[in-house]
Amino acid sequence: MPKKMAAAVLYGKEDVRVEEVDIPSLAAGEVLIRVEAALTCGTDAKVYRRGYHARMITPPTVFGHEAAGTVAAVGEGVSEFAPGMAVVAANSAPCETCEFCRAGRFSLCEDLLFWNGAYAEYARIPARIVQKNLLRLPEGFPFRKAAIVEPLACAVRGVAACRIAVGQDIAIIGAGSLGLMLLQLATRQGARVVVADRKQGPLDVAMRLGAAAVVLADEGDLPELLLDRSPGGRGFPLVIEAVGRVETSAAAVAAVRKGGTVNLFGGCAAGSNLTVDLQRFHYQELSLIATFHHTPASVREAYRLIVEGVIDADNYIVGEVGLSQLPGVLADIAAGRRIHKTIVLPRSAK
Ligand SMILES: [Zn+2]
Ligand SMILES: [Zn+2]
Repeated sequence: MPKKMAAAVLYGKEDVRVEEVDIPSLAAGEVLIRVEAALTCGTDAKVYRRGYHARMITPPTVFGHEAAGTVAAVGEGVSEFAPGMAVVAANSAPCETCEFCRAGRFSLCEDLLFWNGAYAEYARIPARIVQKNLLRLPEGFPFRKAAIVEPLACAVRGVAACRIAVGQDIAIIGAGSLGLMLLQLATRQGARVVVADRKQGPLDVAMRLGAAAVVLADEGDLPELLLDRSPGGRGFPLVIEAVGRVETSAAAVAAVRKGGTVNLFGGCAAGSNLTVDLQRFHYQELSLIATFHHTPASVREAYRLIVEGVIDADNYIVGEVGLSQLPGVLADIAAGRRIHKTIVLPRSAK
């Protein structure tokens, strides 16, 4: 076993360096995985732009949280995993003892434990995640396809919370990877989905993945264009916002019909405020809901969808790079030049 590895280290705002660092040592219950494939995520691009993440990351640190790999070593007391096994880890695990966990609201856990460090040759998975959210992959299953388990688990929860009916008309705002996952899960439940985005490229993918129609719109005219596409021009019974901006959240509220539901699925920055016409909200009995993150159950459902080939990560993957190219890729995502996911191969010479 080598002692050193290559890893991307986040130092601060737009400062990521690929360096040689120590391979993490293991405490009891922990597992070291050799990362075979990591995927970029919009959250990592946000972290790159801001230089930190309030709940997940304080620099300098390794980061990245979507990865699949091979078990390289196990800590004391680990019996379910052994070196050589192919695995995928979710990026967190709840405590299962706090008030929220006891009520089954695992994404609201007061002690949600995060794991980071996917952009490295090796990654240490904390004991609690090993116990609750490390899953063994079938022999030979492609690592890059498995690595999508975390975002897909969030999408699984987002769609489940919306209680979609067969034949229901839905609008999804945002055709990023998560918007597309929401689209595929909603159409599987029999919904007729209209997808809106500012860029044509992602909308072409949405059409290929089963969107009934797409709306190419800037934020300004988005509500009007969505209403035009809604049944009878009266709005959609369900609108899912998958961007995480005030303007698109406002458009979602504008495009929902009487008695309808808006799911604010995208996460906005602190201090983002949305103004809602409360008269309309009350007399039209609108529902505003939000779903954040995943739970051990939605992680398992996402795993099943991936392994059974229902959801194929390749639909959201736009390229493949080695670690050295990661800083440039993150800059591209942060600037909106690269919308979907890039595979990062930590042991590639690229
Ligand atoms: Zn992610
Ligand atoms: Zn908890």
